[in-house]
Amino acid sequence: MITIVAISDTHTQHQALEVPEGDILVHAGDLTNMGELKDVAAFNAWLGSLPHPHKIVIAGNHDFCFERSREVSEPMLTNCTYLHDSAATVMGIRFWGSPWQPWFYNWAFNLQRGEEIRRKWDLIPDDTDVLITHGPPHGHGDQTDGGELAGCKDLLEVVERIRPRLHVFGHIHEGYGVSSNDHTTLVNASNCDFHYRPVNPPVVFEYDPRRAGRVIRRRSSDQQMGRLTRERQK
Ligand SMILES: [Zn+2]
Repeated sequence: MITIVAISDTHTQHQALEVPEGDILVHAGDLTNMGELKDVAAFNAWLGSLPHPHKIVIAGNHDFCFERSREVSEPMLTNCTYLHDSAATVMGIRFWGSPWQPWFYNWAFNLQRGEEIRRKWDLIPDDTDVLITHGPPHGHGDQTDGGELAGCKDLLEVVERIRPRLHVFGHIHEGYGVSSNDHTTLVNASNCDFHYRPVNPPVVFEYDPRRAGRVIRRRSSDQQMGRLTRERQK
């Protein structure tokens, strides 16, 4: 079994998290509030203090510096693999990461729904096992405080077609939680809630490569394992 720990939308408050141990840590974007480089540096240092052998990170709509000055920001993330419409194979699992979301006020990585954003989703390889996007697909973890389903329909189409085993995202903080369809487990891993309080725990999955990547959510003792990790770091 390969343990994947999903986090997202930490918004500089990563220190408040109790992160369970695992093989691969995935962060689905919004590590900063306004994309300040000092916050990227602090995040990277924190990543370096975590025991996970593999860490994969994408940017989100708050992480302006990763859109405006990629050449400065991306090399700062020395303690993880940063994905931007790109792939990484880790422990035999094929990951794809992408920061875009349907236009959302004047934030970073905005694209118009339809043709424009579909061009990014068309880049996702058919054989992707774990998809990481900042925004949710339509109908999964995408209900806003106002009741609107803000997720991307074009992304949902791609997820239903290529059928990744796991889809990790965030962005709509109030959509935190796990859902599934016939082929894919989907998680909105936002650690911050609607009011930007870091109250939602990381979500842990066991990925079974021998059973064609069957994904099971680990429900018990997450909190306890997080405490153990934190103890060891002291
Ligand atoms: Zn966020």
